Amino acid sequence: MGQAALKKRLDIAHHKFNDVESNYFRSKAGVSGEDFVDQQLARYEHPEPHFIIHDLHLKASSFFQIDNLFVTQSFALIIEVKNIKHTVDLMQNPHFMKQTSPEGKVVIMDSPEEQLDKNIIWLKDWLLRRNWVLPVVGVIVFTNSDSHIIPNNCKYDIVRPRYLTKKIRKMVTIKEVLSQEQLIRLGEELLINHRDYEQKALHAKYNLTSTDIITGVECPVCFEIGMKWSKRKWVCSNNHISTNAHLQTLEDYFYIFGPEINNTEFRRFFHINSKDVAARMLKKLNLKEIGKGRWRRYRKPLSKQ
Ligand SMILES: [Zn+2]
Repeated sequence: MGQAALKKRLDIAHHKFNDVESNYFRSKAGVSGEDFVDQQLARYEHPEPHFIIHDLHLKASSFFQIDNLFVTQSFALIIEVKNIKHTVDLMQNPHFMKQTSPEGKVVIMDSPEEQLDKNIIWLKDWLLRRNWVLPVVGVIVFTNSDSHIIPNNCKYDIVRPRYLTKKIRKMVTIKEVLSQEQLIRLGEELLINHRDYEQKALHAKYNLTSTDIITGVECPVCFEIGMKWSKRKWVCSNNHISTNAHLQTLEDYFYIFGPEINNTEFRRFFHINSKDVAARMLKKLNLKEIGKGRWRRYRKPLSKQ
């Protein structure tokens, strides 16, 4: 997970550390909330032909990600899931979400309403380009039972997980715009076009430069960062030995700096002095080579479904 990679490679004293740490805990909370909604949907029996896709990544004018998509012959429903506790205000003009703890601590977050607006537009664009005509609607689910949601003028329905299926049930309509065959074809087309999200590199998100990030290979045993490459092995100061510790470090690198690396960057981040040793290691990593000679870059391949 990207936030974890950044958290361990940022000095605790760095002025962005608190931001990174709170986002790390928030993204962990988001994952468990989504699981809860997945279970509700899995148990639900909708009376009409339909399909559900979780964690769908598509490209319209830009990449977009949909947590849960519920599609029938008459509508596509985007389900935006939030797992946030305490008092949650959905503020408008400008859109943001304000969380207030019982102690009065205020945290400002992105607005799920705005996120849903964007996803609906992007999915409509995506469908239109492929000549699909289907209404796209949205709903926001707040999964944390220890929360008090103040919707203000949010234009979407906000529901608790146990009412989500009830809400979907009520949406049953007579007017079908897709035939059953078309519904199946649409499902296939969505999955074919699903692609792993090219995440925005974290250093750009937090406005960090390469000198802000702690470099070095992480020991898989004691988690010390800064293993030395010696006699074809990685060794930490506690004498733990590994032959492949650089694989996890490379994942960290890609999360933080984006999906490409060159020989110079590799040597700096992995603490390797020799250009040839670095080139040999890079060759073995199954990365896609782009360019020749000193301009050669190595790119992380997109993983397949
Ligand atoms: Zn160690």
